[in-house]
Amino acid sequence: MLSNWSGHQTCDTPVLRPVGTEGVRSMMRQTAGSLRPAGTGHSFTPLVPGADTVVAPMPRYGPPVSAISGALARVDANAPLHALSKALDGSGRAFRNLGDINVQTLATATHGTGATLPCLSAEITAAQLVTADREVVEVPSEDLPGVWVALGLLGILTEIEITTVPAYNLRRRVGFKPVADLMGTMQDKWADHRNYEFFVLPHSGKGVAIAHDLSTDPPGKAPMDLD
Ligand SMILES: Cc1cc2nc3c(=O)[nH]c(=O)nc-3n(C[C@H](O)[C@H](O)[C@H](O)COP(=O)(O)OP(=O)(O)OC[C@H]3O[C@@H](n4cnc5c(N)ncnc54)[C@H](O)[C@@H]3O)c2cc1C
Repeated sequence: MLSNWSGHQTCDTPVLRPVGTEGVRSMMRQTAGSLRPAGTGHSFTPLVPGADTVVAPMPRYGPPVSAISGALARVDANAPLHALSKALDGSGRAFRNLGDINVQTLATATHGTGATLPCLSAEITAAQLVTADREVVEVPSEDLPGVWVALGLLGILTEIEITTVPAYNLRRRVGFKPVADLMGTMQDKWADHRNYEFFVLPHSGKGVAIAHDLSTDPPGKAPMDLD
């Protein structure tokens, strides 16, 4: 049984967990009916339930980053973002932007914040897809925007090439503020900070503001997570 993060999206269909491109392809050859890929189940909406079979590809064995050439990194599309970040950091590289959590897989079109920063999918420069007719295709560059946020409709992404940036440090600031203040200052905050977002806490009149900015300070001890 598949259940998403909150437990509000569930389905009883079988979940298959193939490893790597060949694993996905041979598994697809053995299934009939409709099929839906799944990442780590953090979508709030019913994106995955409903198919005859759910495929949750596992990260392939070995390093999740297979090649780095300048700014471009060829990576396992089904590795979690935290594993990819760690592997990229080992080569002095990093994702330009990330979301609030990093347990999702790269294939799932996760976005971050930042008025001038692209979402993760917009950094994709090449992609390998196992299509519904069980073929492994390298997506032609002119078709790439179609797979950036395809959410499984065009097939199962198995490898992705993504633009990276030199590794960097961020300073994180978190604070509670009245919602009226948050609404009144958000345009300025988006301009002032590399990343800025806030969450309204219903019925409290307050919200949590989170800002991230580049820092040249060495990494400090991670603060206690008060989420
Ligand atoms: C606490 C929390 C914080 C969150 N913060 C953010 C955030 O900051 N930014 C953000 O964007 N979202 C955020 N989300 C929402 C969620 O994380 C995103 O929607 C994320 O992209 C889902 O990823 P997943 O790995 O859980 O994929 P799933 O929910 O399992 O699947 C997402 C979609 O991707 C498709 N898919 C999965 N694998 C493949 C594949 N190999 N090939 C093709 N398609 C595939 C699925 O079919 C589905 O349509 C958050 C969720 C939670 C619970």
